Amino acid sequence: MNSLNSIICVCGSQQSYVDCCEPFHLATQQAQTPEQLMRSRYSAYVLKNAKYVYQTYASEKQAENPVKEIKDFADSCRFIKLTVIDSGYEENLGFVEFKANYFYQNLFCELNEKSEFIKEDGQWRYLDGVIHPVADIKVGRNDDCPCGSGKKYKKCHAV
Ligand SMILES: [Zn+2]
Ligand SMILES: [Zn+2]
Repeated sequence: MNSLNSIICVCGSQQSYVDCCEPFHLATQQAQTPEQLMRSRYSAYVLKNAKYVYQTYASEKQAENPVKEIKDFADSCRFIKLTVIDSGYEENLGFVEFKANYFYQNLFCELNEKSEFIKEDGQWRYLDGVIHPVADIKVGRNDDCPCGSGKKYKKCHAV
């Protein structure tokens, strides 16, 4: 990954990566809100930084989410877009409701989740989430690409 400095962060914040999720990925800053942590976890998936995703799970969830599984999932998806719908927090507990769109093989998928976050040792961590099921869309090679580019799928996100 080079020349990320000038690019807009993949989390969809409209800020540059250096001013958005990179300081969290480099551990030079800690996320101040559950939404910041959630965005940085999404962008870590996109950038295939499985270790960061793993480390930002609540400690009780790390054993059931090994780095290898996170990496396999990240490698198998082409991530398109994150949309944060709502978020909020109190002292040690927070939530983020979001939609994440990605391709898995020839399926266009939407993860619609309300995630729960807790503070551990003063740092926000992802605990768990409730998923609202959304049907996957099977994409044909000659269909318009669901990413919204206006191109045919075969000329866009098909593999
Ligand atoms: Zn970001
Ligand atoms: Zn596309």
